Amino acid sequence: MTQETIAQQVSQLLQRQLSEWPEAHDNYVALEHVLMREIELGDSLIVLQYNPLRRQSSSARLDAASLSARSCFLCREHQPAQQDMVEWGDGRYKIQLNPYPIFPRHLTIAAMQHTPQSIADPRRVSDMIQLAKDLPDYVVFYNGPKCGASAPDHMHFQAGTKGYMPLCTEVMNPAFWPEEHQLLSCADGFLAFAQRFGRFCFFIKTSEPVLAELYFARLQVAMMMAVGKNEEPMQNVLCWVEDDDCHLLVFPRRKHRPACYGTDKEDFLLSPASVDMGGLWTVPEKKDYERLDADIIQRLYDELCLDNENAVAVIDHLLYSEEP
Ligand SMILES: [Zn+2]
Repeated sequence: MTQETIAQQVSQLLQRQLSEWPEAHDNYVALEHVLMREIELGDSLIVLQYNPLRRQSSSARLDAASLSARSCFLCREHQPAQQDMVEWGDGRYKIQLNPYPIFPRHLTIAAMQHTPQSIADPRRVSDMIQLAKDLPDYVVFYNGPKCGASAPDHMHFQAGTKGYMPLCTEVMNPAFWPEEHQLLSCADGFLAFAQRFGRFCFFIKTSEPVLAELYFARLQVAMMMAVGKNEEPMQNVLCWVEDDDCHLLVFPRRKHRPACYGTDKEDFLLSPASVDMGGLWTVPEKKDYERLDADIIQRLYDELCLDNENAVAVIDHLLYSEEP
């Protein structure tokens, strides 16, 4: 008997879950009918998805007191009886259906242990890349504990169907990564920066997973030094594998939620994270969905992403500091 691949096991898990778990099934059917609309933002396309199911995630209270008062929804003992899993990474993670989808196939990949959200341990990014290799039809993403993770107390990645975040397609154009934007490079790949998409980001593209890990580690150090804090930099990370190349998009963040965050009439109930950085904005409120435009999206990116001064500082660290 041939061993099933992880991708096959996950595909069977999803089929099983959607037939056995009515609430999840209904949410995935509802996703097929959500309103979507497109906004042009310079070189980049933004897709708005009006998705009321995500209200809970966008409005989650994430302060320490609220977190310790709630039961962790990624720990087995608090999950619905129907929630099943595929074990992954020598039993260190569980791959599960996300019952509140943004994507036609939306996974949560949580650590088996209740351990804080962090990508500081180099093994985590190595896991992220391996996940992307094992799930070739998905983009794997990581939200920093203060940048959109709805369970900052329990380590997890997510993964969503490829082809839904416009930026992941846009960055595949090599013309956007001229040599003068490449900060580290060799025959096997590069780490470059881009401002042209309306939000500052770093892009790692390489045929060698080990090189992706090395460049990511160098970037983490540069981001920490630029901000002057000895803790994990605020960030969102997207990772996918295409034609045997690893791709990582890193969005350094300076703020978790925008000043306009809220439920009052003039506010926006938006808590942008990796997927929004990828160009797919999940909007739980109808009034927000209707009034968002390119100017507002640009202002939100400007407020939440790294400003020019700090971006230059990170770039300088990468270019001129000694290798650790
Ligand atoms: Zn937990």
